[in-house]
Amino acid sequence: MRRETFKSLYVHVPFCREKCRYCDFYSGSFLELKHPYRKAVIRELSIRGPELSQFPTVYFGGGTPSLMEPAFFESILSKVGQFSEVTVEFNPEDAEKEKLRELSLIGVNRISLGIQSFSEETLKTLGRRQTPEDNLKALETVCSVFSNVSVDFIYGAPGQTVENFLKNLETALSFPINHVSLYALTVYEETPLFKELSEGKFRLPEEETVYEIYLEAISFLEERGFRQYEISNFAVPGFESKHNVNYWKLENYLGLGPSAASFYVNKYWKNVSNIKEYVEKVERGELPTQEEEIFEGEDLKKLKLIMGLRLTEGVNLKEIGLEERFKEALEKSEIVKGLIEEGLIEIEKNRLRLGKKGLFVSNSVISQLINVLF
Ligand code: SF4
Repeated sequence: MRRETFKSLYVHVPFCREKCRYCDFYSGSFLELKHPYRKAVIRELSIRGPELSQFPTVYFGGGTPSLMEPAFFESILSKVGQFSEVTVEFNPEDAEKEKLRELSLIGVNRISLGIQSFSEETLKTLGRRQTPEDNLKALETVCSVFSNVSVDFIYGAPGQTVENFLKNLETALSFPINHVSLYALTVYEETPLFKELSEGKFRLPEEETVYEIYLEAISFLEERGFRQYEISNFAVPGFESKHNVNYWKLENYLGLGPSAASFYVNKYWKNVSNIKEYVEKVERGELPTQEEEIFEGEDLKKLKLIMGLRLTEGVNLKEIGLEERFKEALEKSEIVKGLIEEGLIEIEKNRLRLGKKGLFVSNSVISQLINVLF
């Protein structure tokens, strides 16, 4: 039997100079571990399977991958030939022309720049290190080397209004970028931002304002040739992130590094979220897996629905085996009828997708659908 291949490789780079106030990703300032980490990632790849040598897409995410030297990326890319899209996430303060040029020479062809905001106040509230000037300079430098550039923004931060948020997009679009990710600020309990908000140091904008920012941002980007293809992602057609689309379509992907997740056929696993433990396990020749889960039958259908609905094209209910069940729910379930009437979901032949408002409140809509269908 032919072994299924992986479509994507993700490498988690867990280093950050210091923690941003809102961040709950696995990352830290343990920069002295860069060397053992680098060795361990290469070793993990060989433990996972020496035959794993071809990945159509590679994504270095973090943390702060731009803290690593070009030799790190080269040591991995030279082992996994045959890629069409190689993305490196960059923090603006690291965007040096020479480094970017070196990366482009070793096969990196896409940069995802963590701009987050052009407002000094918002950057400070979020605890980002860069200034608005760093952001402008980084965009100019990155766009002078790469022609496939994505920028990330955070919306819903304290003090944001529709007007000042759209100014961010206007500034970004004055550069030749072709992809934008808009992430709603999520305030996680264990973060310093949560504490400051609880103490009343800042106030988040009203939910209605956040919704308005999202809708206006969608219109703004669409009027300028960007198509929304996922809840948070917009691209000039042809510049969608192939790598991330593979996640949402539940293609096989391999994650290397501490806390990296993987999916293969119907198995999901996640590595230990501790760099020391990760390095030690890999050095002993052990797999650094911390948890794994097999998705079968109903659970697999559920997962396909949850992931597929993130894409604006939605899911083909027939393909995921939910056609009959949805038809029945459409006739009998007041919840499903309500979701359609309110424009939260749309159905066209066998294709189910979230409506514009549904994309904004996707978690609630998807959990209502799950409750009805399963
Ligand atoms: S740079 Fe990114 S990963 Fe690092 S602390 Fe800030 S938000 Fe988190």
